[in-house]
Amino acid sequence: MKSPETKMTASDESVSSMTSFPTSKRFFLVLISPDKPGQLPENVIHVTDQTAVVEGNINLFGFLLQGLSEAEQNKAVSHIRQSQYWVHPVYTDNTNNKNPLLDGHKTLVEAMSSAQQMQELLISLKLDPQALQTDEKIMLYQYIREQSELRPVLDRNSKRLYRYPVIDVLSKTEELADIVLIDLLKRQTLIPRTLLDRTRECPHCGSAHPHFIDVCPQCESIEIHKTAALHCFTCGHVGPETDFQSPSGMLCPQCNTRLRHIGVDYDRPLTQYACQSCHHIFIEPKIRANCLDCGSENLPEQLIPHDISTLVLSVQGRMLLRSGASNESFTNVKTSNYVVGAYFRQTIAWSLSIQERHPDIGFGLVLFNIQNAQEIIEQIGALRAYALFDEISLRISELQRDSDLATRFGEYGLWIFLPISSAEGFANRLKGILSTLNIPQQSNIQAEIHSLQCPQDIIPKTTVNDVMAKLSKKVQKHVG
Ligand SMILES: [Zn+2]
Ligand SMILES: [Zn+2]
Ligand SMILES: [Zn+2]
Repeated sequence: MKSPETKMTASDESVSSMTSFPTSKRFFLVLISPDKPGQLPENVIHVTDQTAVVEGNINLFGFLLQGLSEAEQNKAVSHIRQSQYWVHPVYTDNTNNKNPLLDGHKTLVEAMSSAQQMQELLISLKLDPQALQTDEKIMLYQYIREQSELRPVLDRNSKRLYRYPVIDVLSKTEELADIVLIDLLKRQTLIPRTLLDRTRECPHCGSAHPHFIDVCPQCESIEIHKTAALHCFTCGHVGPETDFQSPSGMLCPQCNTRLRHIGVDYDRPLTQYACQSCHHIFIEPKIRANCLDCGSENLPEQLIPHDISTLVLSVQGRMLLRSGASNESFTNVKTSNYVVGAYFRQTIAWSLSIQERHPDIGFGLVLFNIQNAQEIIEQIGALRAYALFDEISLRISELQRDSDLATRFGEYGLWIFLPISSAEGFANRLKGILSTLNIPQQSNIQAEIHSLQCPQDIIPKTTVNDVMAKLSKKVQKHVG
């Protein structure tokens, strides 16, 4: 009797959307093609469209799209990227389709070998692709594609003018895609490779849609036009030629001198423009860069230049994935001497046991938490909010000594461990720093700082969980 697997992979047994898929531990390449293929290798499954596979549960290492129109290919690859198989390579037989979600043009044999290599890299990481945060998904996607670059596409409807389709499709919302991209670049997990373009962004909202308009440098009216100007030698008045014209000939509008001879009574200065509102004449108009998204009026030099490049995963990013730093990477308040939670707890446990035998060797523990982070992001926008969180992170780092350790508390908080030093002193210095921060007007940062000292604040035989719970219980859930 044929096993279900053999049956599935035989070329004359193409899978219809009603068929159930093999459940063995073997991995398959899925060939999506409207045409019935000839004899296929054992580990290739043929389907006529991706729906059944994507909604099924099958061990696969990649897809090959064959004989589909470009629109069908784009639809299939978007569907796959939003499914549980988001990370797997999707190749096509179409050399013209440059969709950045695809993994290029390959024959069946090439697709199998390339997809298998990616599968090996994927397995070597021992990560569960379904349990990852958005930023980790992007890192993993790039990790198994080794040399490939994340390519931006120009999209005039996008606020920042360029979008990274892979980041978009792996993020649940457009806003999250922006936040994750900014964060990955800031942490240098993704780094630029090939420079493609440069945009100018609004300093207020980050939009790359400035609207340039030339105005009068004196009164900022837009009612300016090119005109010839005259300069009266008698009184020095300079004005548009039309101001000098009178029925009786050229007359200075200021001193009433009749202007007869150029070079004797008057000349033509280099001025180019005249303002109809204030009659000022000038050589160069002032340029205003108005933001089409938030309406702010800026000067061109106030716009923030932004390089648009292809992106690759940095060595640091690869190491982070290999060290299985799952869930630790999406931390918004970061400092130096940052360690993963398990190590942090282990260090406190170790210090507690030392402390029992050497009561004079104590430590301080500080819990810092921004209560209204979400509110701040909504009020001042993600860009400025993250810049603010960065500023706080930097200031905390400056307070830390080399021997101090930090780990995350929620998304916007930090635990800080201070061996043989005063938690209260650290907490007070931190409070002082927060009060001097340059915070954008609209936002009112609400942060809390709790601290304890060991052994003074704990009872003997306390566990690390007790110690940390003592502070974390104090954290207020911010309402409203
Ligand atoms: Zn004059
Ligand atoms: Zn003017
Ligand atoms: Zn703007």
